[in-house]
Amino acid sequence: MPPTAKPVDLPKLKVSARGASRLKSGHVWVYRSDVLDADGAPPGSLVSVTDHRGKPFGTALYSSSSQIAIRMLAPEPVSDLSALLRERVSRAIDYRESFVRDTDAYRLIFSEADLLPGLIVDRYNDILSLQVLTQAIDANPVRAIVISELNQQINPAAIVERVDPRVRELETLPPRPSGLLQGTKASTTFTMNGVHFHYDALEGQKTGAFLDQRENYAAAAQYAHGEGLDVFCYQGGFALHMASKCKPVTGVDSSRPALEVADQNAALNQQLLRGREIEWIEANAFDLLKDYSASHRLYDTIVLDPPAFAKTKRDMDSAIRGYKELNLRALKMLRPGGILVTCSCSYHVGQADFLGMLSTAALDAHRTLRLIEVRGQAKDHPVLLNVPETSYLKCLIAYVS
Ligand code: SAH
Repeated sequence: MPPTAKPVDLPKLKVSARGASRLKSGHVWVYRSDVLDADGAPPGSLVSVTDHRGKPFGTALYSSSSQIAIRMLAPEPVSDLSALLRERVSRAIDYRESFVRDTDAYRLIFSEADLLPGLIVDRYNDILSLQVLTQAIDANPVRAIVISELNQQINPAAIVERVDPRVRELETLPPRPSGLLQGTKASTTFTMNGVHFHYDALEGQKTGAFLDQRENYAAAAQYAHGEGLDVFCYQGGFALHMASKCKPVTGVDSSRPALEVADQNAALNQQLLRGREIEWIEANAFDLLKDYSASHRLYDTIVLDPPAFAKTKRDMDSAIRGYKELNLRALKMLRPGGILVTCSCSYHVGQADFLGMLSTAALDAHRTLRLIEVRGQAKDHPVLLNVPETSYLKCLIAYVS
């Protein structure tokens, strides 16, 4: 995509009445089935979008293969893409400067929510981690503009790219390895809410941290007490935050590499732990909770933060069953006055569905729950109000009697 293409040169995409009404509602996507005429637009090109009568909607990024064919960029013609991208990167950074506190790790750019559809950039102290999700953002001129602006604004020690091979396949982009795009530093430590973590861009699962839970860690720590259990603990995010309040703390995950990093993270936080150990258990959480609840193990604080169970709308019923099983068992294992922190990162399971699931679990477990907090993702993962897909994380904190 030439970054300085004149609006008059752009392919004109016509969208159906359904596509048009979606855009009128403030959404930024048009599905392939709602594109009436793609005007021969090349993969990843900048395009202008009109309704079926030719009424203009503005300028968008086009994908020739994704189900999401159009991601709107601006409601007007864009004559200087480079200036627009630089401005958007800069605005995204300003937003974090205004709202993000107590951390040197946070999401710097969150795709549609920062009006940069297809681009994710996470900051881990002095290392930036970049993810490219669309043909348009993958184009070399676009990459160069984004990287140049990030360098100017942040001046990181290194920039790494995290590649999801499945995304590249869906976008019919050639395979590409994950790795350093700039600099040589691939690992660092970062600190959120006073808790320290290792970050290694090239080792392990290459997933980085779950930065979207940052504010929920701090909230959970506020109420945590007694014996704590962090189920689906990954590298110990909740467990380490609870450790100053709970004794003892146990973390459970099925991934050994994640638990190895969790243990290294515990070593980084000696001062906070004051000689206390966190026990890390490698296990299938479903099996472990079944065993523990059958043998009447009791805790005062339990965190449930499973992976997304509903990847598509069709998985919704089985996802709810999975969440219910976990929550029911956890509720049976909490002492009166206990705290349940229960999360779902499935977009397809909405907040009302998740609350409904928890109410039926409470009924079945014969427990009374008071909702202390209904939470979502941290502010560095902003929710764009008219694009519901930008809101995915739910975190409920309940007092269980
Ligand atoms: N709470 C973590 C994030 C959890 S992500 C944090 O704040 O950092 C989900 C985790 O669930 C991953 O670490 C994955 O390894 C683990 N997982 C997936 N299926 C599992 C299972 N059946 N039993 C235990 N852990 C599982």
